[in-house]
Amino acid sequence: MTPEIIEKINKFTRREFTEEELYVFDLILCDNEIDRDCERFSDGALEKMSTLFIGKTGIFDHNAAAANQNARIYDTELVTDNSRKTKNGEPYRYLKASAYMIRTNENKNLIAEIDGGIKKEVSISCSSAKRICSVCGRDRAREGCEHVKGRLYNGRLCHIILDGVSDAYEWSFVAVPAQVNAGVTKKFTDERDVKSAVAEYSAEDSELRCEIRRLAFFRGGRAAAEAAEVSARGMNTPQLRGLKKAYERIAGAKPAEVQLMPDSKPNNADMYKI
Ligand SMILES: [Zn+2]
Repeated sequence: MTPEIIEKINKFTRREFTEEELYVFDLILCDNEIDRDCERFSDGALEKMSTLFIGKTGIFDHNAAAANQNARIYDTELVTDNSRKTKNGEPYRYLKASAYMIRTNENKNLIAEIDGGIKKEVSISCSSAKRICSVCGRDRAREGCEHVKGRLYNGRLCHIILDGVSDAYEWSFVAVPAQVNAGVTKKFTDERDVKSAVAEYSAEDSELRCEIRRLAFFRGGRAAAEAAEVSARGMNTPQLRGLKKAYERIAGAKPAEVQLMPDSKPNNADMYKI
């Protein structure tokens, strides 16, 4: 840990912390790849989020009830990987974040887990005012167009480009053993992994449960998230899809409460969860 890093972190803390008291780690918040919903962030959106996420606190979902399970982002970096192309044929770009935790007795097991190289699944939530059609460039948040996302037009996949990001709300970090997590991560999964249909199916269920929990969290905090998790536990895939849609409708109708930024207003912008 360099003195510059410690200085950056100490801007966010009430008192000065020493290197021994701090634990730092990196994570990938989001990228420019077209996701399963046929949506991707614009370069401008990624740049905007690189500033908006600094200082934001994230939670560790798998143990949210425990004390001191929060981490805060102290730095971000937009990274371009020219060796890898997105489905849209562009160089792969991702938003890397560096986060810190204050070492305590309560979080030492969690820190050991992260140190142990377990896979990290990150979810973020932000508001994005524009939904640009990749084929015609119309803003689908304002007007419709005839293009269907997921279809090919002149050999190119029609997708929605999320732009006009005005707020970043939350991030959360699900740390699970790599073999359990294989195929679950919506974005950052290594595409060389070949998964069986069965694995894909249960991965979708896990992801849906995760998203339902997240949407409920932004709606009603931790208690709502836990209640949603319990009700989703016994559901099959179609039921989970339905429940997720219901939560998304609620989120779209009324901007969810902003947990960490009480002064900001979403401005009718839609909530997106990655
Ligand atoms: Zn269009």
